[in-house]
Amino acid sequence: MSEKYPLNVPTPTHFTYVVKDLPKVTVEEREKALKATHYNEFAFPSGLLTIDMLSDSGTTAMTNTQWASLFLGDEAYGRNTGYYVLLDTFRDIFERGGEKNWKKTLDLVRTDCRDVEKMMNEVYLCEYEGGLFNGGAAQMERPNSFIIQQGRAAESVLMEIVKNILTERHPGKVFTIPSNGHFDTTEGNIKQMGSIPRNLYNKKLLYEIPEGGKYDKNPFKGNMDLEKLEELINGVGVQNVPLIFMCITNNTVCGQPVSMANIREVNKIAHKYNIPLIFDVARWAENSYFIKMNEEGYEDKSIAEIASEMFSYCDGFCMSAKKDGHANMGGMLAFRDKGLFWQKFSDFNEDGSMKMDVGVRLKVKQISCYGNDSYGGMSGHDIMALAVGLYESCDFNYMDSRVKQVEYLAQGFFKAGVKGVVLPAGGHAVYINMDEFFDGKRGHDTFAGQGFSLELIRRYGIRVAELGDFSMEYDLKTPEQQAELANVVRFAIDRSRLSQEHLDYVIAAVKALYEDRESIPNMRILWGKNLPMRHFHAFLEPYKNEEK
Ligand SMILES: *Cc1c(COP(=O)(O)O)cnc(C)c1O
Repeated sequence: MSEKYPLNVPTPTHFTYVVKDLPKVTVEEREKALKATHYNEFAFPSGLLTIDMLSDSGTTAMTNTQWASLFLGDEAYGRNTGYYVLLDTFRDIFERGGEKNWKKTLDLVRTDCRDVEKMMNEVYLCEYEGGLFNGGAAQMERPNSFIIQQGRAAESVLMEIVKNILTERHPGKVFTIPSNGHFDTTEGNIKQMGSIPRNLYNKKLLYEIPEGGKYDKNPFKGNMDLEKLEELINGVGVQNVPLIFMCITNNTVCGQPVSMANIREVNKIAHKYNIPLIFDVARWAENSYFIKMNEEGYEDKSIAEIASEMFSYCDGFCMSAKKDGHANMGGMLAFRDKGLFWQKFSDFNEDGSMKMDVGVRLKVKQISCYGNDSYGGMSGHDIMALAVGLYESCDFNYMDSRVKQVEYLAQGFFKAGVKGVVLPAGGHAVYINMDEFFDGKRGHDTFAGQGFSLELIRRYGIRVAELGDFSMEYDLKTPEQQAELANVVRFAIDRSRLSQEHLDYVIAAVKALYEDRESIPNMRILWGKNLPMRHFHAFLEPYKNEEK
């Protein structure tokens, strides 16, 4: 907004010049497709949708600068140029706070620097150690950062190696891994390693609705409940908690942000008990924006400065780089050089010398599944688009318009009288609490949130994600885990793809569906009830509310 001649509407921050036309599809045609795909919304053809809000994962519209960067992609098999660019981009944002040398490596490559000595000294042979992204010989001697093409693959590599190490040391033991909110794939990966995931947040605060639908300052509903965390560690025993996870922003807990104060406290607790703290950071940039706008002492700091402080508190992280508008593909796994994770999971000889470095074990897994450490499942051009996208996520104007667009949708639902909207909106999506939407009338065995999602597809061609009783497996959980489950559906908004026109259509559709909520069918699972991450593959069937 111009300060001199203020208007009461936001100033546009971008425009679009590639257009995707949509076909006109009838309700009957969508109904036919729903039946043919066993009412599994992941299997519904996107070509039949009007608006797809299933996920913001990799669905981002790229900027013209990102598209241009594809041509700079180096597809070499060993140490492609993008490898250096990407690791230095991460150092710039996660470690150097955007201070000096911002984008130096990227710009040397963008301007096709031919000064060989400069490239050798400042890019190819540069040594880094002690942080999250070793470089040069240090990355070979103590590998600690692994490009992996997406978040869940990074999780899976981490969990498998951690599981192998724990099994060698303590065969048969069951471990608990707490988080402020495990994402569905994180939870799936933890369960597949035989451990118990726990979600420690404040559910009462999550569902609190402020007067008029607005808080003065964002209350950071994604925070870890510190008391519950200490209780859990002492309850199951510190030796049975190998890692503490922290999801930033907290996707499962309605995309809500986490405060810097909370991150700092979790780090203190983790280190008091000598447990490595691992971040799950798909949306670190949004979270940094929320801290800047709502937490005292951060108003004058940049997104990169805030990100650097945030990352100083972790011992390692898994990252999906497909969110926050970074790129269509990308991910990262990293841990602090010689930090707590490395100390706890490496094997040392009695004289203190290294027997087996956990980084080497992770690298073996990375190589056997995703290719070598220079690209980890990504093409050279994807790596370049990601580096550019990471820098763009640090742009305040972009993040500001993104978060405000999400809030526009949440307020639209609220003003339309839809019950159960989680307020304030998260950074990437709006969530609706299905227990409240259905006036508490539908039991946990009805999977009514999934009924809602499928009915939204059938009537209006809008696809959203159920992240409640069905996807988060209410029926397969212990009572204490059940109490930690938020029965929600998620309307994800990806970068710069949807306009206000789309959001107004979604608001009108949800309002209409809310007013006719009695007619939304329940769902039963016909096949795949016990499969890991069943929502990606189970078969469902609608049934009338009166039937059982
Ligand atoms: C999306 C996401 C993941 C998984 O990442 P992918 O890149 O989709 O595999 C993990 N954690 C969180 C918090 C996410 O939002």
